[in-house]
Amino acid sequence: MSDVEEPVDRAVETDVDRAEDDVVLRVEDLQKSFGGLVATDHATFEVERGTITGLIGPNGAGKSTIFNLISGFYEPDGGRVEVNGVDVTGKEPYEVADHGLIRTFQTPRKLEGMTVREAMLVGPRNQPGESFVKLLTSPGAVGEAERRNLADAQRILEEFEIDHLATQPATDISGGQMKLVELARAMLAEPEILLLDEPVAGVNPTLRNKLADQIRRLNEEGTTCLLIEHDMDFVMKLADPVVVLDQGSVLMEGPPQRVQSDDRVIEAYLGGGT
Ligand code: ADP
Ligand code: MG
Repeated sequence: MSDVEEPVDRAVETDVDRAEDDVVLRVEDLQKSFGGLVATDHATFEVERGTITGLIGPNGAGKSTIFNLISGFYEPDGGRVEVNGVDVTGKEPYEVADHGLIRTFQTPRKLEGMTVREAMLVGPRNQPGESFVKLLTSPGAVGEAERRNLADAQRILEEFEIDHLATQPATDISGGQMKLVELARAMLAEPEILLLDEPVAGVNPTLRNKLADQIRRLNEEGTTCLLIEHDMDFVMKLADPVVVLDQGSVLMEGPPQRVQSDDRVIEAYLGGGT
C-alpha cells in the first residue's frame, strides 16, 4: 500500500454534481494582446450562479481587460465567453447586456450636465425611448416605459439610501457617492450577473461598508456578482470563491482563506506592481 492520498471524489465531496446551468458566466481560453503586450493569456474560469466571485491579482494582471472582453467593450483575439450558456463572444455591449450581464467601470464615466436621477436613467436595457422608430410608431409605449424607468430609478435610489441626492448635479457628489450611483444605475438594468470593477477604490470606510452591505443584499436577492477589488480585506470578506489572475492567466481559484495563504499568490503580489 502506498501512503499517497486517494483522490477525492468531487461528486461525493460536493454532494450533487453541479448542473450545467448553474454556471452563469464561462470564460474559456480568452486571449487579448495590445501590440506586443499580452494582457489576457488563455484565461479560463467560471462563475456559478448565486455566488459573489472575486477576481483579484496585482496591478496590470489583466483584470479590467477581462471585464472589457466579457462585456463586449473589447474584442478578444481568441477564446470564448458564454453568458447563461449563450455564446456572446465578440458581441456588442448592449447585446451582452440583453443576456443579463451588466458591468460597472473602475472609473465611473463623467456625467456632466446631468442630475443623479438623470445619470441613473442612462442605459437601462430595452429602453424603447432609445429607438427612434419605436418613438414614431408607438409614442405611448415610450411614455409608459419612461414612467416605469423613473419609478424604478426612484425605488433603487431609496434602496441605496441616496434618494436625497436625486436632483443634485451628478458632478457635485463625492467619488464614493458616485460609486454608489454607479452600482444603483447598473441595478436598474436588473442584471442576472453584475461585474464590479473596484467598487470601493478611493471610497471612505463608511461608504465602503455601505457598498459592501448593498452588494451582499443584491446577492442575497439573487444577483450573481463578479467582483474585482484591490482592497484584500473587502474582497476576502465578500467573495467566495476567489479567482487569482497573474500576467493575464488564472493562477489559482479557491475559497478566500486558501487563496490568501497560497504561496503562489503571495509571490505574485510581491512580484507585481503593488
Ligand atoms: P488590471 O485591471 O489588472 O490592473 P488591466 O487589465 O487594466 O490590468 O491591464 C493589463 C495590461 O494591459 C496592462 O499592462 C495595461 O497597460 C494593458 N492594457 C489594458 N488596456 C489597454 C489598452 N486599451 N491598450 C493598451 N494596453 C492596455
Ligand atoms: Mg483594473
